[in-house]
Amino acid sequence: MKIQHRPDLANPQIPSGLKNNQPTVGMVSLGCPKALVDSERILTRLRAEGYRISSDYAGSNAVIVNTCGFLDSAKAESLEAIEEALAENGKVIVTGCLGAEPDYIKERHPKVLAITGPQQYEDVLDTVHQIVPPKPDPFVDLLPPTGIKLTPRHYSYLKISEGCNHKCKFCIIPKMRGRLSSRPARYVIKEAERLVENGVKELLVISQDTSAYGLDLKHSTLGGHRSHIYDLAKDLGSLGVWVRLHYVYPYPHVRDLIPLMAEQKILPYLDIPFQHAHPKTLKRMARPAAASRTLHEIEKWRKVCPDITLRSTFIVGYPGETEEEFTFLLDWLEEAQLDRVGCFQYENVKGARSNLLLNQVPNDLKQDRWERFMSKANEISSQKLERKVGTTVKVIVDQVEEDTAICRTQADAPEIDGNLFIDKNFSHLKPGDLLTIKVDEASDYDLWGVEIS
Ligand code: SF4
Repeated sequence: MKIQHRPDLANPQIPSGLKNNQPTVGMVSLGCPKALVDSERILTRLRAEGYRISSDYAGSNAVIVNTCGFLDSAKAESLEAIEEALAENGKVIVTGCLGAEPDYIKERHPKVLAITGPQQYEDVLDTVHQIVPPKPDPFVDLLPPTGIKLTPRHYSYLKISEGCNHKCKFCIIPKMRGRLSSRPARYVIKEAERLVENGVKELLVISQDTSAYGLDLKHSTLGGHRSHIYDLAKDLGSLGVWVRLHYVYPYPHVRDLIPLMAEQKILPYLDIPFQHAHPKTLKRMARPAAASRTLHEIEKWRKVCPDITLRSTFIVGYPGETEEEFTFLLDWLEEAQLDRVGCFQYENVKGARSNLLLNQVPNDLKQDRWERFMSKANEISSQKLERKVGTTVKVIVDQVEEDTAICRTQADAPEIDGNLFIDKNFSHLKPGDLLTIKVDEASDYDLWGVEIS
């Protein structure tokens, strides 16, 4: 969890020609890509109403802080961001996950003007209207077709559902965001089509539980589109852009998605939060999937789509995790040979059921396990990337700098995975270009190469 877009860091794409007499709002967006999508929606609505979006505290009539409350460290970061916004601007509206705990915020920062919880867009907008009323102007009230985007123009997050029906003991998201609530497929596809029409080359599908998409809608078919992850992936895959799936749980029907990846309809990339591998740890976590079959499942996926990239996150030092359970996880990782891996040290989070579990793991042991886990993950990653030297890969250009073009292969999601750098003959490139590259060098996480087409 990190601060992604302080007003002074944000680079929203604001259409030119705005009039100067409009009220101005700043946004600090914290937390995960899902929160970023929420920030984009709020900004889109404000922009549609004629507000200007400021890129600094001083130039804003008010600042919205979209908070994260997933871990205690994220809560602390949110409180710090609120403090900074109060000091720098003074008029602060708090929203997002931590907004579900207004008393906690008010206790530390009584001067915030309003607090709203996750998904309460209307309340955020009402508060902005009260504090800095809009000045209607037909020339600036037009909504730009893609909305205000905090991500670069060539890729966009696409939120397909909110909430989760599971009850993992370490997680308070279901309490904060409620049960699964999917957006009907026709609306998701409409949004995706609009994004593609406006230059987006890569769609990053996000939700709390992507595999469960449409369950709450009974996978109904409305407007010719069935709300099921298989159908949605297929429909999005027909738009001719990269489609990347995040937060996919290894339910049996996930195997139906693999042929779509083998045919390059969607990217051969699965982001699956396994969290652990030992059956007893998973049981204590109350995770939806048992690990015993996942190795077998991974093997089957790789048979159908040998190029598939598997990314996952894990928690080490979960209460009661024994040395034997941890070693089991390391052995599992060695066997699973995942391409991309993230790892958190377990933290007690206020309101999580896991806080009550016995045998909490001491911090120094958590650190030790984290280091051992990451060392194994690095070893696997560097071996895998070394094998890519000499091969050709498809990449998308993210940024062109003075001395290098920063790209990503199909195996790399923005912000969380590695990069491929082009150091020679790159001056003609621009963000969003799709290229074929011959890889000539590798490090633990990144690649280097030259364009061959
Ligand atoms: S699946 Fe578990 S970890 Fe993921 S959002 Fe749901 S409850 Fe939280």
